[in-house]
This record gives sequence, structure tokens and C-alpha cells, in this order.
Amino acid sequence: MPGSSPKSPEPEYEGDYRPAPSDNPLAHLDPVNVRVEPADVLLWGDPANSESFKTLISHINHERCGNAAMCVGAAQGALEYAVQYMGERRVGDKTLGDFQGLQWKIADMATQLEGARLLLQRAVHMAGPHGTPPALETAMAKTAANLAAKFVCDEAIQLLGGYGFSREYPVERVYRDIRGLCIGAGTVEIQRNFIGTSVLKGATPASDGWKSRRA
Ligand SMILES: Cc1cc2nc3c(=O)[nH]c(=O)nc-3n(C[C@H](O)[C@H](O)[C@H](O)COP(=O)(O)OP(=O)(O)OC[C@H]3O[C@@H](n4cnc5c(N)ncnc54)[C@H](O)[C@@H]3O)c2cc1C
Repeated sequence: MPGSSPKSPEPEYEGDYRPAPSDNPLAHLDPVNVRVEPADVLLWGDPANSESFKTLISHINHERCGNAAMCVGAAQGALEYAVQYMGERRVGDKTLGDFQGLQWKIADMATQLEGARLLLQRAVHMAGPHGTPPALETAMAKTAANLAAKFVCDEAIQLLGGYGFSREYPVERVYRDIRGLCIGAGTVEIQRNFIGTSVLKGATPASDGWKSRRA
């Protein structure tokens, strides 16, 4: 009912993205009424053939690695919170951490998170100190980090039970933060399109097991 509900503690975003991961206020830019003069154009040329355009596009790999790093960090925080909580929460004469079924959740969470972290470290390492992370390894890292974060943060909510869904505890907030990261900088589906078509065309990620195909 208008006027009868308590004031929301969340800021209002007027239809724009919820700013993740912070709660900073948004500035709204209206591109419709911005006039771009020829002197303002920094990158000229046909997108298919322009070197500058290709360079610009390649820098999305930096953004994708940053996106993956935020997912890995958020998931690490959620996992650590769940582990701590499982040592404290008692059900009868046991803690949650004593239940094998819940130990297996922690095992899966930690394993997926480590896999994503290693893929990300590889992509960033391949860039070197001033280079650009390679596209295929970056797409794999972003996909793995997005999916790991979604899984880990969701399981962390589950492990905290009702508290997991409450704003008093941090894990529901972390889940909302990482959810947008699975869409921004190229969705998980678009990463998969790129990985799948690249591998089908003969591209090989930089792992030992693929070396014979590259040779
Ligand atoms: C938190 C956040 C931050 C963002 N930051 C920016 C930014 O800084 N700059 C910017 O320009 N944009 C930004 N975006 C926009 C973002 O890049 C787009 O939302 C995203 O690329 C998806 O495009 P779309 O919303 O038009 O969805 P659509 O293209 O309509 O896609 C809808 C669904 O269909 C899937 N889909 C679409 N095409 C295919 C296909 N060919 N094969 C398989 N699946 C497909 C998508 O994966 C998605 O699940 C941001 C979005 C979010 C959520």
C-alpha cells in the first residue's frame, strides 16, 4: 500500500543497475542528447579492419579478469564466513561442521573456487607486466569464476539457514554483488560461445595436455 510500508533501508536506483560491489550512489548519463563532433572521435575506421578498434576490444580482457577477480574474492569471503559459522552453530550436541553432508558442500565450494582462481592466475600471468591477458584463457577464467561464485555464495546462504537469507548476515549481500558480475563484461553464455567456437576451430588453451595439438 502506498505510504504504509516502512522506508526501505536500500537506496533507490531508478531502474539502473544496482552498483556492485559498493552501495555508492549512481550518476545517470543520458547519451541520447550528447552531440559527438568529429574532433571528439578518438578511434576511426571500420571495426572489422581497424587496429585501434581491435586494441580497444582486446582491453575487455582486462575487464573480464577484474570481473573474475571480484568473483573469486567475494566467493572466498562467503566460504570463510560459512566455515566460521559452521564451527559455531550447534544443532543438538554437534556443530554444523560435524555433519559429513555439509562437509561435502564445503569441499565442493573450495574446489570450484580454487579451480577458478588458478584459471584466473594463469590468464593474468600470461599477460605479463604490461600486456593483455589472452582472450581464450580469460574467457575460461571469467566463466569459471562467475559459476564458482554463484555456486559458492548460494551454498553459503544455504549453510547459514534462515540467517543466510537475512540482511543481518553478509552472505546474501555477497550473492547479490556477484550476480551482476555474471552478466557484465560479457555474459557466461557469451563466454561459452567464444570458448566453444574457438576450441572447435582448433584453438588450444595454454595447458600441457593441449600441447600435442598445438605442435
Ligand atoms: C552489473 C553490470 C554491469 C555492467 N556494466 C556495463 C558497462 O560498464 N558497460 C556496458 O556497456 N555494459 C555494461 N553492462 C551491460 C552488459 O554488458 C549487458 O547487460 C550484457 O552484455 C547482456 O546484454 P543484454 O542485457 O542486452 O542481454 P541480451 O543480449 O538480451 O541477453 C539476454 C540473455 O540471452 C543470452 N544470450 C544473448 N545472446 C546470446 C547468444 N548469441 N548465445 C547464447 N546466449 C545469448 C545472454 O547471455 C543473456 O543470458 C553491465 C551489466 C551489468 C549487469
